[in-house]
Amino acid sequence: MSSRKRLGVVCTVFMLGMLGALAPAARADGRATDAYLDESRARWEQVARQIWDTPELGLGEARSAAALIDVLEKEGFQVTRGVGSEPTAFVATAGSGAPFIGLLAEYDALPGLSQAAGQAKRQAVAEGAPGHGCAHNLLGTASVAAAVAANRERIAKKLPGTIQLFGTPAEEIGFGKTFMIRDGAFKRTDVVLAWHPDDQNRIANRTRLAVTGANVEFFGRSAHAAASPWLGRSALDALVLFDHAMALMREHILPTARIHRAIKDGGAVPNIIPDHAMGEYWLRDASGESVNEMLGRLRKAADGAALATETRAKVTLLFSNREPVVNDALNALLQKELERVGPPRFDDADQRFAKAMQKELGFEEVGMATTVMPFTQHNGGTASSDIGEVSAVVPLAELNVTARPLGTAGHHWAQTACAAHPLGYKGMAIAAKVLAAGTVDALGDPALIKAAHAEFVTQTKGKPYVSPLPPGAKPVAPR
Ligand SMILES: [Zn+2]
Repeated sequence: MSSRKRLGVVCTVFMLGMLGALAPAARADGRATDAYLDESRARWEQVARQIWDTPELGLGEARSAAALIDVLEKEGFQVTRGVGSEPTAFVATAGSGAPFIGLLAEYDALPGLSQAAGQAKRQAVAEGAPGHGCAHNLLGTASVAAAVAANRERIAKKLPGTIQLFGTPAEEIGFGKTFMIRDGAFKRTDVVLAWHPDDQNRIANRTRLAVTGANVEFFGRSAHAAASPWLGRSALDALVLFDHAMALMREHILPTARIHRAIKDGGAVPNIIPDHAMGEYWLRDASGESVNEMLGRLRKAADGAALATETRAKVTLLFSNREPVVNDALNALLQKELERVGPPRFDDADQRFAKAMQKELGFEEVGMATTVMPFTQHNGGTASSDIGEVSAVVPLAELNVTARPLGTAGHHWAQTACAAHPLGYKGMAIAAKVLAAGTVDALGDPALIKAAHAEFVTQTKGKPYVSPLPPGAKPVAPR
């Protein structure tokens, strides 16, 4: 946890200077959006709870997407469904012409993380069922709330431009946004503002890792394990040998790299020598270049294991996400709005619940984060996201807002428990206010859009975006 709480102030000076340079004379007042979001708070908590109550896995988020679309259509947004050949992806737009300001809504759940709301001990709602262990119910709802609030302000103040709310499914399986990009969904977008629930209040930048996921399969020859094992060639043996090679490889990779896996098929019963085995392997590091290098080594390890066991190896790429491209012009905008709105205000009951959870999980009992971190480079978590792909297409900044106790992480039942509880709802309300105000600011600030673009061109060296998807790839949920 300590490394995730690094503080730094060196760059704050730079950020303040940049804010001064960008502050336009006619910056729209974001505070009207705060007032609207306070008035309509119960509505957003109801939407977040509805999505939490029906947790759906990537590409199967029909009810979750429908709940968000319903709100957006009632608010006058035009909705295009099925974007990127993904049935649960959508783009909702309001307004007309430039600038185009984008917000990202995720709403997929994770397998096996069902957990009762507000319970500090492991207690599934339904054993083995999915749950919102990354709080994407809060993520999607806050972004939609921000889009609605900003759109009301756009109309009231007769601001120029278009608000785009991107309904982006399948983040947890690594590629929802990548197919939307391939379909041209972000073609007209000038900037994107995003957020993720977290244990801190801060601007997230430069820490998300690039990732590539691949299925590694082995094909052998089946035989009776007692009667004639010499006739068989075990695919499981090959997978075990391959997995050992990957484990040894961990000593010889960069300290920033991560290798992890799930065994998906290891044979049916011990007395049949399996002719098929499969593992899903994820490779991560601070740069896509390093991940590609590790992928080359993974392929060699698979071939080596196949050679040793007289089986055949097959490596199938599932998805690939680069590390996010940083945009300090947009980071400064979000930092300014986050400092203005302030951190979520937690009461004694919230802090007691947070400490009970920390006790249960063996963390220091320090409760919830109650401050906004000063801006600093290299701040945030190391989880990968297809948000990295969006950041390579359009200038993007990402905010973190507290929605779980300090020290806890996502992809855990603890986050599920907080995602339909005042701890999570309070974080969601702050995120919505920051994103709404940031959107209104961006609509009325051509200099900001220009600065974000200039920085984007520098960061990407003007090179055009190349999709990691192979030609003809189709979005398919992993088995
Ligand atoms: Zn997430």
